Amino acid sequence: MTTSHYIAGRWVDGQGSDCISVNDPALGQPFAELMAVSAEQVDQAVAAARAALPAWKCTSASERAAYLRGFAEQLGQRREALVALQMRNNGKPRHEAEVDLDDAIATFGYYAELAEQLPGQNCDVPLAAPGFTARTRLEPVGVVGLIVPWNFPLVTSAWKLAPALAAGCTVVLKPSEVTPLCELAYGQIADTLGLPAGVLNIVNGKAETGAALSNHNGLDKLSFTGSNNVGSQVMRSAAAQCRPVTLELGGKSAILVFDDCDVDAAVQWIVAGICWNAGQMCSATSRLLVQDGIADALLPRLQAALENLRVGSPLSEEADMGPLTSQAQWLKVAGYFATAREEGLQCLVGGKVLDRGGWFVSPTLYADVPEGSRLWNEEIFGPVLCARRFASEQQAIAEANDSRFGLVATVCTTDLARAERVADALEVGHVWINSVQAVFVETSWGGTKGSGIGRELGPWGLSGYQSVKHVTRCLG
Ligand code: NAD
Repeated sequence: MTTSHYIAGRWVDGQGSDCISVNDPALGQPFAELMAVSAEQVDQAVAAARAALPAWKCTSASERAAYLRGFAEQLGQRREALVALQMRNNGKPRHEAEVDLDDAIATFGYYAELAEQLPGQNCDVPLAAPGFTARTRLEPVGVVGLIVPWNFPLVTSAWKLAPALAAGCTVVLKPSEVTPLCELAYGQIADTLGLPAGVLNIVNGKAETGAALSNHNGLDKLSFTGSNNVGSQVMRSAAAQCRPVTLELGGKSAILVFDDCDVDAAVQWIVAGICWNAGQMCSATSRLLVQDGIADALLPRLQAALENLRVGSPLSEEADMGPLTSQAQWLKVAGYFATAREEGLQCLVGGKVLDRGGWFVSPTLYADVPEGSRLWNEEIFGPVLCARRFASEQQAIAEANDSRFGLVATVCTTDLARAERVADALEVGHVWINSVQAVFVETSWGGTKGSGIGRELGPWGLSGYQSVKHVTRCLG
């Protein structure tokens, strides 16, 4: 493949030593390969972004908005190819791949509008002291390094790329080595739109490339989405240079189901919260807390719903859930099934890998999981749900908050006063009431505690790429 990396407005071959295999997880076989970039090529990408910055940051907001609208439109024009690629490389069923593409399109459209309204640009600041005036300028942070994972490649990159470009930053994007092809569409679109060379650079590679980028002294900011382990390494690199960093990390989120809830609706929310994208979501609601009075009615229906879920190739129109995206993830989830057996957990459904050639596992439910269990506490990143019962609202809140993570939570109850009260008490970045995984570009994304630092989406996503400057003038 000759179109593996996009540096300074040109498509180049990788000159690194790592060969990246691009796999079809439904078959467990590679369908493409590419060479990673070398450290020198990372240097070239950062240098290109640096060279493009002075002109790009002086473009008008409406000019940048026009490019962003172009990204949204061009994504739509590439719909069939991008949906097919996500189905093939991620193992997403068609309807999920469509949702991802629509999310990316909406993100570019939203930041196009926000760019035009850039809040506070050259705003006067009223001063109590006489004899001075002051104004605020919101300036781009500068050259930003964006490092992303594989579970929602188009979306996660759009959440970073769109606000960064809107703010006037230039970018070096490193996609995951598991899904290195999807984001190349952003380079192709940049070409089509005539985005000035160097404003967007895309370098593919493995951990070594990510480390070369995060350690690079030519960046003004890093924005990382991925695991806590790598996130802390990225944070160390940022600390070494006293450079700002945004981190979107892991989760072990709770879904709380109260006695007054409609059982069928709750089952639907619980299944979607753990089986969408085969559970490979930082925001998977993988800890089910169910109130005593409804548990005996709910658990058998949940078990039946998970048993009836159709697991299969994304190419089959019938599949509700596809395979796990990588062999490493499949082995990791299989390891948790073994741990569950060692811990003697009560498995109501699943608990095994499927012998089908690809990286399939069955949707899984463990009941009455002890709070000390590894499966209750660790992020698994697969369709593996652990359930516990609770007696009171206070107990439910305490158990939900008893986690080193704090990304999201779902509250299921018909008592709306309680829903709002519980939502306020949960130590997370986003709470859904009687819905699940509903992410709107106008609301924020990000977590508390070990789930990260900073927020994406909404105006907060844009401000992550802006630097505040004040100009104060003496009138005397
Ligand atoms: P990962 O941390 O292994 O990899 C993420 C990215 O970092 C990849 O591009 C990888 O090549 C790169 N990388 C690896 N080693 C590096 C290093 N030493 N220095 C710099 N970069 C390096 O994560 P993953 O397996 O791709 O993704 C799964 C994780 O991502 C899960 O923990 C999940 O919860 C998290 N995630 C979080 C969010 C969120 O918004 N909070 C969203 C999606 C995924």
